[in-house]
Amino acid sequence: MSTTDTHTTRSTASSTASSTASSTASSTASSTRSSSMRSSMRSAADYGEQLLAAALEYAGRGWHVLPLRPGDKRPAVPDHPATSCATPAGPGGPNRDPRCHAGHVGWQQRATTDPDRITRAWSSPAPRGGWYGVAIATGPSRLLVIDTDTPKDGQHPPARWQLPGVVDGEDVLAYLADEARAAIPETYTVRTRSGGLHRYYLLPDLDDESQRLANTSGAIGWLIDTRAAGGYVVAAPTTIDRRRYAVLDDRAASALPCWLHVQLRQVSSTRRPDQTATVRPAFDILGASPAGPAVGEVTRYAAAAVAGEVQRVQAAQPGRRNHELFVAALALGQLVGGNALNHAQAVQVLLDAVAGHVGAGAFTAAEALGTIRSGMSKGQAEPRRIRTGSAA
Ligand SMILES: [Zn+2]
Repeated sequence: MSTTDTHTTRSTASSTASSTASSTASSTASSTRSSSMRSSMRSAADYGEQLLAAALEYAGRGWHVLPLRPGDKRPAVPDHPATSCATPAGPGGPNRDPRCHAGHVGWQQRATTDPDRITRAWSSPAPRGGWYGVAIATGPSRLLVIDTDTPKDGQHPPARWQLPGVVDGEDVLAYLADEARAAIPETYTVRTRSGGLHRYYLLPDLDDESQRLANTSGAIGWLIDTRAAGGYVVAAPTTIDRRRYAVLDDRAASALPCWLHVQLRQVSSTRRPDQTATVRPAFDILGASPAGPAVGEVTRYAAAAVAGEVQRVQAAQPGRRNHELFVAALALGQLVGGNALNHAQAVQVLLDAVAGHVGAGAFTAAEALGTIRSGMSKGQAEPRRIRTGSAA
């Protein structure tokens, strides 16, 4: 093995520049390809080293990584779907995948933070050539990734998003933040190969929140997808079709902001069979069947009110906590009465908001639920309707 070829300093500007050049100058590359064979082999090795270093860095952040097929967004392992996983005694004969000897093991279970496994996966090219890309499994990493996309050629916004200045997912996200009178916190951010952004947010550690939020596609807004439990994102510096995923902001992941959490909670717990946007619900709130409005234009407006009440409850000082919880329950009860909010969702949101106080011994969960029920029934008796503006 030639140490000089493979052991270049991976952080030097030259290795980054040569990779960037090879990806941006793709149209002219063919004429010079034969004469630059040595250099392209070298940059391929650099690419491999960059992938390994990145994967190890993600693991250091507690993010679970998995290999992708070279030049592809699909996981490299397993190489078979669960439906055709051959059991040792099955008709498919002995299973060729030792990880599946006791039943099928999918990509999410294989995602790892183990430096040894990571080093093995990215220390040499894939058997059929090329390097495995790096992906991050969002569920076990307790991440919620907001994926804003750009429109494809000829793709126009649906009626709801035909607004001045709204041309892509970034605009839609900014609009949602404005509606909620809230900010989009800066966080670890990756530019995707299509020119969109992946914002990585951390989910709270209180309960198994990562299992509650669904992967969504267009549910909270046009050209906005989210990845949580059961999802993964292609990570930097993976390059597909000569286009690289690149880190734009290297800081630690910030906490998922409350207003986005509320919106995601709503779309994750409400089915919208009549919508083109797809939502894969991860759980049913309180086991209740959805009563009240489907998530759509109305609840988008209600979300701002919900976020405000959640903050009121969370920020309440000792001695005021039960009162503030009652006031918040009253306000949300009014929205439920006005058919602007789903009852079960409102209860769950308030229970979550007060969870910190319950944990701190301010009162019991049963007492909190009693206050919530009392406030909500009073509020429902005085319904408040939200104007939905021109979109309704
Ligand atoms: Zn299997």
